[in-house]
Amino acid sequence: MISKKTLNLSLKSLKEFGKKRLPDEVRIELDERDECPVDIVRDMCDPDKLGIQLLFVPEDCGGMGGGAFDVYRICEAMAAMDLGIATSVLATFLGSDPLTVGATPEQKKLWLGKIADEGILFAYGATEPDAGSDLGALKTTAERVLDGDKIIGYKISGLKQWISNGGIADAYSILANAPGGPTWFVVEKGAPGFSHDKPENKHGIRTSNTAALALESVYVTPDRLIGGVEGQGLLQAQAVFGYTRLMVAAFGLGAGWAALDRAVPYSTKRIQGGSPLSEKQGYTHKLIVPNMVRLEAARAYIEETAERIDAGAEGSLNTEGAIAKYMATEAGNKAAEDSIQALGGYGYTHEYMVEKISRDVRITVIYEGTSEIMEMTISRDRWQLHLKTRGQHYHDKARESERLHLQHPDIGADHAALALHALAEVLERCRTARLTRFQHVLLRLGELIAYAETAACLARRAARAQEGKLHEKASDRFDAAGLAVISRIFAREAALKVAEEGLRWVTAGAGVSDSEMASFEQSLALPAIHRAQAGLIADMDFIADTIYGRAEKHAAAAVALQR
Ligand SMILES: Cc1cc2nc3c(=O)[nH]c(=O)nc-3n(C[C@H](O)[C@H](O)[C@H](O)COP(=O)(O)OP(=O)(O)OC[C@H]3O[C@@H](n4cnc5c(N)ncnc54)[C@H](O)[C@@H]3O)c2cc1C
Repeated sequence: MISKKTLNLSLKSLKEFGKKRLPDEVRIELDERDECPVDIVRDMCDPDKLGIQLLFVPEDCGGMGGGAFDVYRICEAMAAMDLGIATSVLATFLGSDPLTVGATPEQKKLWLGKIADEGILFAYGATEPDAGSDLGALKTTAERVLDGDKIIGYKISGLKQWISNGGIADAYSILANAPGGPTWFVVEKGAPGFSHDKPENKHGIRTSNTAALALESVYVTPDRLIGGVEGQGLLQAQAVFGYTRLMVAAFGLGAGWAALDRAVPYSTKRIQGGSPLSEKQGYTHKLIVPNMVRLEAARAYIEETAERIDAGAEGSLNTEGAIAKYMATEAGNKAAEDSIQALGGYGYTHEYMVEKISRDVRITVIYEGTSEIMEMTISRDRWQLHLKTRGQHYHDKARESERLHLQHPDIGADHAALALHALAEVLERCRTARLTRFQHVLLRLGELIAYAETAACLARRAARAQEGKLHEKASDRFDAAGLAVISRIFAREAALKVAEEGLRWVTAGAGVSDSEMASFEQSLALPAIHRAQAGLIADMDFIADTIYGRAEKHAAAAVALQR
């Protein structure tokens, strides 16, 4: 892990680099020409220039050994700069991941050392034309080359699809079926039989290079088999999902905020109906405030998961990574889309950038696992917890939130508790009515679980902020007072969503009788959840006033009240 000072220096250098090399005009032109600026990507990874990839590489391999928290902050900043270029940098990180988790010490030194010292670019070659979400369906093969009984190499054959850096990387991690099962290999550019197609003509992240790869009996020596043992590939890929999905989550966060950071100043200057848009509640409370709230809620989940990874939490935190990715990338997409609306006709043009951000951020709900796969991952894992605890898991979590509410009565922990209790009831009804046999219900549960857990997590973050105990590298976009209000707003939304959508899908799947319906509705505490919405408008006013620098209004009102 690096010091706070080093992280801040890296963030500052990144910002300056972006300002100098990637001003809006350059980005618009690159986007229109559909071009990846390879020189910029290489300069970002050049240890003698920006050297941002050093942060991702362990210290014993020549890097700076940044932790998950550091990497999240850098990924957020890179995405705010340009998501296409951020993707190119991330591809090197993803490509080297199988090495980080599975390689022999010699392989690590060699390849991670090359990334640190020479700034070589990597690509991550997992996806195939017929194997996307279901990587188990991969068809690329790695055939052993034998000299008697001795394995003297492998011949890799197959096709890879949608590979970031596919046309520009120096080395590639390729997942292939060896006789012992799916296995990662390192293949270098220019290897005989190895070729890439022309870059894809994409909807967004047009500043990143994405290309298909073809491997025709590409020969590699046995030392290119990552870890030296066949059949570890899918395990190695899964071992880092908690971590890598956190980075894509940070991309959603960075891009979503980048769009809002354009919409907010625009709305202070745009006069309609005689006053700036920023003074119109119907505008701010629909297009700006809810997006900020959802992004900060997702940030809470990202930060907590990053802290747990850095503290050496047991397990891969796959589900937590999935929740963070799901919440942050969905929030980032909505924020960018609403920012187009916030700029009206100007938002719909290239010049104002929000439409580019919106096209770019769209990829974050697709790569590193689509949102639907995230919903499935979350739902399946937490369903097991529900069963193992005989339905008590989320009631227990709700009780934790209730205890937090006693210490911090103004952070919405009571509303989060309502969401968690309702979730436990919805899951239990799904169990008794065997509703998870409907895949749609299973996936909707994934969404409700993500919302309820995020509400509880955000309340914890707000509580820590009040105690002055936030992580020293935590984002400081909002202070403790702002976080408390954001937490209340989000927890209200989560509680309402869990109860009403839970009720909807249970009814849709089970078709309950009137009496069953009444008892189920009661168990969800719907009246309390509806009453919890009191104060929502005032809280949204507070956030709007904070964003637009009108917070003194509240201070003045508080003073007047005290008098
Ligand atoms: C620009 C770009 C860059 C990429 N970079 C890389 C890279 O560097 N390396 C790499 O290996 N891959 C990369 N990918 C691939 C990416 O990870 C896959 O596109 C993604 O995992 C989805 O796979 P797919 O495209 O085959 O879609 P599919 O898996 O066919 O999914 C299509 C749709 O069906 C849904 N779906 C799939 N399975 C289920 C199911 N069981 N139940 C319900 N719904 C389901 C999905 O959510 C999605 O909405 C990249 C893709 C793009 C577009």
